[in-house]
Amino acid sequence: MPAKKTPSPATAASPAAPAPAGPPGTGLSLVQRALRKLGLVRDIDFALYLPMRYEDETRIVRIADLREGDLGQFEAVVTESEVSYRPRRQLVVTVDDGSDTCQLRFFNFYPSQQKQLAVGARVRVRGEMRGGFIGRQMLHPTIKAAGTALPSALTPVYPTVAGLAQPVLRREVRSGLARAVLDETIPVQIGLRGAWDLRASLSFLHYPTPDVSMAALEDHSHPAWQRIKAEELLAQQLSQLQARLERAAQRAPRLPSSAEPLASSLHAQLLAVLPFGLTGAQRRVGEEITHDLGREIPMHRLLQGDVGSGKTVVAALAAARAIDAGFQCALMAPTEILAAQHFGKLVGWLDPLLAARGLRVAWLTGSQKKKEREQMSAAVESGEAALVIGTHAVISEKVRFKNLALALIDEQHRFGVAQRLALRGKAVGDLEPHLLMMSATPIPRTLAMSYYADLDVSTLDELPPGRTPIVTKLVAEHRRDEVIDRIQSQISQGRQVYWVCPLIEESEAVDLRNATETRDELADTLGDAVQVGLLHSRMPTAEKAAVMAAFTANEIQVLVSTTVIEVGVDVPNASLMVIEHAERFGLSQLHQLRGRVGRGAAASACVLLYAPGDSGRVGETARARLKAMAETGDGFEIARRDLEIRGPGEFLGARQSGAPLLRFADLTTDVLLLDWARELAPVMLEKHPELAQRHIDRWLGTKAEYLKA
Ligand code: ADP
Ligand code: MG
Repeated sequence: MPAKKTPSPATAASPAAPAPAGPPGTGLSLVQRALRKLGLVRDIDFALYLPMRYEDETRIVRIADLREGDLGQFEAVVTESEVSYRPRRQLVVTVDDGSDTCQLRFFNFYPSQQKQLAVGARVRVRGEMRGGFIGRQMLHPTIKAAGTALPSALTPVYPTVAGLAQPVLRREVRSGLARAVLDETIPVQIGLRGAWDLRASLSFLHYPTPDVSMAALEDHSHPAWQRIKAEELLAQQLSQLQARLERAAQRAPRLPSSAEPLASSLHAQLLAVLPFGLTGAQRRVGEEITHDLGREIPMHRLLQGDVGSGKTVVAALAAARAIDAGFQCALMAPTEILAAQHFGKLVGWLDPLLAARGLRVAWLTGSQKKKEREQMSAAVESGEAALVIGTHAVISEKVRFKNLALALIDEQHRFGVAQRLALRGKAVGDLEPHLLMMSATPIPRTLAMSYYADLDVSTLDELPPGRTPIVTKLVAEHRRDEVIDRIQSQISQGRQVYWVCPLIEESEAVDLRNATETRDELADTLGDAVQVGLLHSRMPTAEKAAVMAAFTANEIQVLVSTTVIEVGVDVPNASLMVIEHAERFGLSQLHQLRGRVGRGAAASACVLLYAPGDSGRVGETARARLKAMAETGDGFEIARRDLEIRGPGEFLGARQSGAPLLRFADLTTDVLLLDWARELAPVMLEKHPELAQRHIDRWLGTKAEYLKA
C-alpha cells in the first residue's frame, strides 16, 4: 500500500469490492453493500476483521462421548427416517455410530435433505447435543456427506449482518487476508522484539490450530491477540498524537493574564462577587486554563469533574479572561434547559460587571422569536455581546462573531465532531478559538489516556465544602408505598422532589404516556396541597421553561420527568430524587441524576426503584449492579465500575462516531499494552513518520480524519 494519507476507500478497494461508480453505495451488489456496512472495503480491512468465536470441525467424536450442551461432530449411519406430523410437521431421523444412537429433528426441510438422510446413508452430523426423555437429540444439525476431508484449523465465525451468510463472509475474509499487504509497520528496533509478527498473528487468529487453548482465544490473552491489540492501541495513540501536533501548528488569539491581577479586571471583579471562595481544585484548574489561554496554540482542554464540583464557575472565570483581553466568548449547552440555567447564573454574576463596560451577555437558541434572535445576533456581530450563551444555535451559520476567542462546551459528549468543527470556523481570520469542553461524567483514567489522548485534561477532584452526602437506597418496585411516605415527609418540611421515569419504549409517545400516568397517580396520592409537574423532552420549549421556572420557585413540589433533567439542572431546595426502573440506567447516568439533589445544605436522598423482574435472577444482577450506587458517592469510582460493566461506549457519546471504538483491546485488562503504545507513539512519529502514517492508515483508514476536529 502506498504511504499516502488516508487512501479513499475507492482507490484502495480490492477486486472483491470494486470501486463504486458514482456516489458511495450505488452500483454495489448486496454482498458488497453488506460488507461495506461492516467496514470491509480494503484488503487490509478484511485481514483485520477477526472472528468472534470458532467452531471445531477438525474432530470426529463418538455419540456416546457427547454430553448435553456439547457442540460436536460425529459420523453415523441413518437407521430410521420419517416425516411426522405431530405435534407439527417435522423430519425425524435416527442415526447410529456404534457407540450410541441420536435422534435428529428438522422442522424446515427440503426434499433434497430428506434424500440425503435416507435410511442407510452415512452422514457427518454437527450440532448441539440435547438430552430428553427419549434419549440423545439434535435440533437442526448441519449435515454433510461422511468421509470428506477434515479441516486442519478451527473454523472462524465472524460478526455479520443480515444478508451476509457466514460462508460468504468467510470466503471474502479468506481472500482479503490472502491479498492484504502485511509488512511490518512497527520498527523492530523500538517495537515488539520477539513477539509474534503481524502476518503470523492474523493467520493464526483467523485459522487457529485445534490444539490452542480456547480460553486464550476467547479472552484475547493469546500472544497473537496481544500483538493485534498492541497494534490497535498504537494506531489510536498515533492518530491522536498526530491530531495534537497538527493543532500545535495552528494559531489562536493570545489571551494573556496581566502579570499583576488588576483589581479592575473582569476576572478579579467576578471573583469578588462570587458568594463563595474557590476550592483548591478550582484554583488549580483555573491556573491550567490561564496558562493555555496565554499561548498562541489553541487550547483543547477537557474539564472533568463530578456533578456539583463547580465547573461552571471555572468556565465563567475563563470567559472573563477572554473578555479582559478584548475578545468574545461562547458557551454552548446541549439542551435549552441547561443553557437557560447557565444563562441565569452567569447573567446574575456578569451582567452588572459587563454593563459597566458597555458590554452584555447574549442568548441564542433555536426556539427564540425571530426578532429577539436578530437583536441578539446583531449584538454578537458588533461585539457588544462579550459572552454568548445558548444551544446549537450559537454555531448556526448565520451567527457571526466579531472576535470569538474562547468556546466553552458543556456536556461535551453530547456534541458531535461536526459541531465542534463549526465552532472552529467562528474565530477571526485564520485564528482558531480556544476550546474548553466540560464533562460531568468523570472519565476513567485509562479511557482518558486512550480516547482523549489528543486533549489536555483538567480534573476537579474536590467538591465545594458544606455538601451533605446523598444517601442512596435501593427499593424494590413493590415497596413503592414507602417511597410515597418519604415524599410526603420531605414536602412537609418544605423540600422538593424529583421523580424520574426512564425511557422504556422506543416511542417517545409511549414514554410520555407513562410519565403522564405517573404524574396523575402521584397527584392523586399526594392530594391537592401538593403540586405535581411534568417535564418531557417532547414538550414545547416554552412549556418546559415554564415548568422549570415553577419548580425553581417551589410552586411545583414534585417534578415528574424523563431524563431531560439529567444534565446540570440546579434547584438547591430539592432533597429527594426517586428514579423508577433504575436498573435500566447506566451507573454513570444514575450518578448524574442523583447529583441533582444534595445541592443545598439539607440532607438529601436518592431512591432507586428497581423491578425484581420476571425471573428473580435478572432482578438480582440488577440489584448487585445498583448496589455500587449505594456504596459510593465517588463519580470516578462509579465510572470505573461502569466501564467494566458496560464498556467505553457509554462515556464517549458523540465522540464515538469520530474516534472508532477499540475493537479488540479492552481498557480494563490491557493497561500495560496501552502504556506501551503511549510511550512508543511519540518516538515513532518523530523517528519513523512514514511508518507511523502507514500504521494509522492501515488501522483507521479514513476514520483518522475525524479526530482532527
Ligand atoms: P457542575 O460541576 O456539576 O457543573 P456547578 O458548576 O453547577 O457544578 O456547581 C454546583 C453548585 O455549586 C452551584 O450552585 C455553584 O454555584 C456552587 N459552587 C461552585 N463552586 C463553589 C465553591 N467553591 N463553593 C461553594 N459553592 C460552589
Ligand atoms: Mg454543570
